[in-house]
Amino acid sequence: MMLQEKALKLLQYYPLCDYCLGRQFSNLATGTTNLSRGKTIKDFLVMDVSTTLVDDQIQILQCLSRSGSDLAKKYLVKKEIQAEETMKCYICEDSLEMVEELADLIIPHTEGYEFYTILIGTLIPKSILERETELKKQHDVTQTELLKQEFNRNVGKKLSEKLPITTDFKSPEIVIEIDPFTQNINMRIKSLYIYGKYRKFLRTIPQTRWPCRRCKGKGCDECNNTGKKHLESVEELIEVKAIELAKAEKITLHGGGREDIDALMLGTGRPFVFEIVNPRIRSLSLRDLEKKINDFTQNKVEVLELRWSTHKEVVHVKQSAERAVKKYRALVSFLEPITDENMVKIEKEFHNKELQQRTPNRVSHRRADKIREKKVYSIECTRKDTMEIEMLVRCDGGCYVKELISGDEGRTKPSISEITMNSAVCKELDVIEIMEIPYIQEE
Ligand SMILES: [Zn+2]
Ligand SMILES: [Zn+2]
Repeated sequence: MMLQEKALKLLQYYPLCDYCLGRQFSNLATGTTNLSRGKTIKDFLVMDVSTTLVDDQIQILQCLSRSGSDLAKKYLVKKEIQAEETMKCYICEDSLEMVEELADLIIPHTEGYEFYTILIGTLIPKSILERETELKKQHDVTQTELLKQEFNRNVGKKLSEKLPITTDFKSPEIVIEIDPFTQNINMRIKSLYIYGKYRKFLRTIPQTRWPCRRCKGKGCDECNNTGKKHLESVEELIEVKAIELAKAEKITLHGGGREDIDALMLGTGRPFVFEIVNPRIRSLSLRDLEKKINDFTQNKVEVLELRWSTHKEVVHVKQSAERAVKKYRALVSFLEPITDENMVKIEKEFHNKELQQRTPNRVSHRRADKIREKKVYSIECTRKDTMEIEMLVRCDGGCYVKELISGDEGRTKPSISEITMNSAVCKELDVIEIMEIPYIQEE
């Protein structure tokens, strides 16, 4: 079927605005807009009937007039015939002409947010989608550009005329969803991701917030109405200044593994990525942020080497922590005096030694019961007194060092207790180094 026949047939069935008519032929004459494509087709149809003098000429001009063709209206007036009124577009109900108004509705929502890139997403009600599907099926039009695409592009374009922003399809700073029919607007702000390392100098705080298990954060007698099992955490300490500087809602700390609450994190620190959720300010100076965080968290926590990161790196930091080799300092106390011979024996036995660790008793309530194979690369012992030694342990990530020492009632084999035949416990444990696995930034 020729273009003009198909277009005319569509317009005889439904009044269509220029955008919606143009969209049905979006494969034709690329490099133009659907708006001007639709208008051109209508103008052409007016010229076509006015030269061929077909019988139903007037009827065709009236149907074009219903679809808002000014040229058809003028032609009818010239023939002294009353032109029919323009009807609402069958598909978009003329909402595509409201793009400017939509853009004006969006702008107040974005006020107070720093952003330079945006992506518009349009939600089209089901009833409208069904109308278009039916039209396409009945009239065999296949080269349609979707209504929502027309909205996305036009609203994005309008906004970029009004604000200093561009559209970014890959990683926009703000995603705005609009429903042009209800004028509902929904905005999603992209989080900021910052990589760094932290050191922890307290034996009393967990890595991330820890809500009270009984009241789940609401507050009860058990938690003194704080809603928390632990009042502070590394996450909450870092959060204060990050929220303040980015004018954000909260932060989420994604740690590369975590140490026990009572273990210090020293040395080169533990890699982590923290996510600043709902930031109003994006152009942060990380040096300034680092300094402000450290001034605030003094003697409790320190952050180092902050740099910009991505959501993808979160996955890397979490996974590589499982595999990374770690170095610990452990203060070990024995039931009987510990001999020099046994100290030498420990260093010798635990040189490149494979361990079998069954899930420790102390975590069995939250971890699956299974046997893990971990390697201890080296242990260096230094005497503290007759009953105590300090050990520097280098081992696989995920190795339970407290159980390597105690033996955990035979669940970890071999252990310091077993090798020395002298019951040993870990009195203090500090992480002093995490060998990082480098992250290759993807494009
Ligand atoms: Zn329309
Ligand atoms: Zn509680």
